[in-house]
Amino acid sequence: MNKHTIRVVAMLATGLTAAASLSAASAALAQSAPSGNELLERAATALGGIAGRSAVLGMHTLTLYGFGENNAQDGGGNVSASPHAPQKRTDVDGIVRTIDYDNGRMHLQQRQVQAFEFAIAALMATGNEVNQSLDGDVAWNVGGNPFNPAAPVRTARASNEQVRARRIEMLDNPVSIVREGLAPGAQLGGVLTDSQTGDQVLDLTTAHGDHVTVAFSPRTHLPDWMRWVGPHPVYGDLTYTTWFTGYEPIVDGLVLPFGYQTTCDYHGVVLSEVYVDKYDVNALSGAQRDAMAAPAAVRAAPLPSPPNIRIDALQVAPHVWYMHSSANGSSTVFDFTDHLTVFEAYGSEANFEAILRKIHEVFPGKPVTQLIISHHHLDHTGGLRAAVAEGLTVITNRGENVAFVREVTSRPARMFPDLLQKKGRVGMVKIIPVDDKLVLEDANLEVDVLRIVGDSHMSDALGAYVPSAHTFSEGDLMDDTGWDASWWGNSYPDTVKYWHLQVNEDLPVHGHMHTYAEMMALAKKQTETSEALCAKADQAGFALPGCPVANTMAGY
Ligand SMILES: [Zn+2]
Ligand SMILES: [Zn+2]
Repeated sequence: MNKHTIRVVAMLATGLTAAASLSAASAALAQSAPSGNELLERAATALGGIAGRSAVLGMHTLTLYGFGENNAQDGGGNVSASPHAPQKRTDVDGIVRTIDYDNGRMHLQQRQVQAFEFAIAALMATGNEVNQSLDGDVAWNVGGNPFNPAAPVRTARASNEQVRARRIEMLDNPVSIVREGLAPGAQLGGVLTDSQTGDQVLDLTTAHGDHVTVAFSPRTHLPDWMRWVGPHPVYGDLTYTTWFTGYEPIVDGLVLPFGYQTTCDYHGVVLSEVYVDKYDVNALSGAQRDAMAAPAAVRAAPLPSPPNIRIDALQVAPHVWYMHSSANGSSTVFDFTDHLTVFEAYGSEANFEAILRKIHEVFPGKPVTQLIISHHHLDHTGGLRAAVAEGLTVITNRGENVAFVREVTSRPARMFPDLLQKKGRVGMVKIIPVDDKLVLEDANLEVDVLRIVGDSHMSDALGAYVPSAHTFSEGDLMDDTGWDASWWGNSYPDTVKYWHLQVNEDLPVHGHMHTYAEMMALAKKQTETSEALCAKADQAGFALPGCPVANTMAGY
C-alpha cells in the first residue's frame, strides 16, 4: 500500500466525509485524471463485457456459488499471538449468496466447519449452517445456536450493527459497487492514483451513508479492491480490504471475479477467501425473490436488546470470590488488603462492566487495580479494552502476549468509539509480564500466577492458584457446558503435575465450578468423544484435523 492509499484510509478513519476529505488532494492532481463518475462508468462497461453496461446497471438479481475459508477469530484464535503463528481456519462450504438489486435484498447460505482441533465435535464434523438475510434496513437470521448445531431452528431479527455489516457485504462485489456509486444520492470524492500499482482510487459514500474506498485498474477499468472501516471489540476500528481477482467472462456475457480475498489492517490477516464456482444472473423466479422479503413477524419484531447479563457472586474461600456470568465468561476476584485483582475479562465490554458492577456491590469503595488474562484468544480478551479503560494493570504471560496486549489497546476506535476511546486511554496500558511464575502476596492472600503447561490450544497461557484455598482459576483448560470434545485434556493434569499443585476446586472461565476430580472425569469423557469422532471419520474414509488423538489422557 503506498502513501496515497494510506492517506485515503486515514481520512476515512477520521470520520470526515469522503467529499470533504479528498477535495484538497484532488485539486493537486493532474487535470487529466478521470472523475469518479468516469471511473464508475468505465467499470460498468468493463463488467458488462459483451452484454454491455446495461447488463450491469439493469441487473435484477445476482447469485454467487462457491466455497472458501475464514480465519477463526480474525487472526486472534491461533496457538500464540505471533503474527507468524499457524492460522486457524474455518472451512466455508456451499456458499450461495443472492442479491436482489431491485428490492435491496440479500441472502447468504453457507456451512462453516472448524478446520482445526476444536472442543465441539459437531463444529468439526458437520459444522454449523449460516442462513442470513437483509431486506432494506431489516436483517435477520434463521438458525439455532452456532455452538450447538442440534439447537432448534428459529428466526430472529438482527441488530442495526448487523444491518450495516450486511449492507457492506452486499456492496462488497464489483457489480454492487458500480451500481451504488452511480445511484442517485451517492457522493463521489476526488480520484487519487496509486503510484505503485497505477490504480485509480475513489472515495465513495453510498446513499445509505456507508463510506468505502474503491480502486480501479487503469488497464482493465475493473474494480481491483474495496476498502472500509468497521468496529471490532478487540482491535478497535478495523480497516478491511477485499481484493477482486480472477476476472473472466461468464456465459451471460458479463466479466466477473472468481476470487475474493478480504484482509485487514491487523497484521494483514487474511480474514476470508471465497473461491467462486459460478454466477447466475437474473435467474431467480418471482417466488424466489418474494421469499427474500423480510417476514412480517421479523419486520414487526423489535430490534434485539443487549443481553441481560447476570453475575452471581460466590465466596469460595477467604478472600477468593467466583463471579459467575450468565454470558459464559466468569471471573475470579482475589481480595488483597488494599486492592482487588480480577482473573479474566471475557467476552465483551458489556460482560466485563457487569462483572465490575457486581464487584463494586460486594466490595464497595475497594479499587480494582489488576487484571490477569488467561490467554490472548479474542473471546478471552473481549473485555480487555474495557479493563484498560478502567485503568487496570494487565498481568499476562510474557511470550507474545505483551506485544499483543500493547498493540490491541493502542488501536483507536474513532469511527466506532468504545469505552477505551471514550475514556481517552488508548495506548495507556500498564503491563506486568509473567515469565513462568508470579507470586502476588500480602497479609490477606497468596496467589500464584502460573504458566500453563503442554497446551495445544494456547502456548502463552496463565492460571491462578491459591495455595491456602486449593483453588485454580483457568480459561479453556476445561468446560462443562459448551464443550463435548477435548484434544488438550492433558494440559490441566500436566500443569498440576509440573507445578506440584493440590487443586481441590476448579474456577473456570467457562461453565461452572467443579471439584478437580470432576474436571478430570470430564476431560477423559471429552477425550473419548474426540477419539470416537476420529474413528467415525476413519470409517467414512475422511481425514479430520487432530486425528488420531495424541493427548489421550493415558496415565491420568
Ligand atoms: Zn482459547
Ligand atoms: Zn474459551
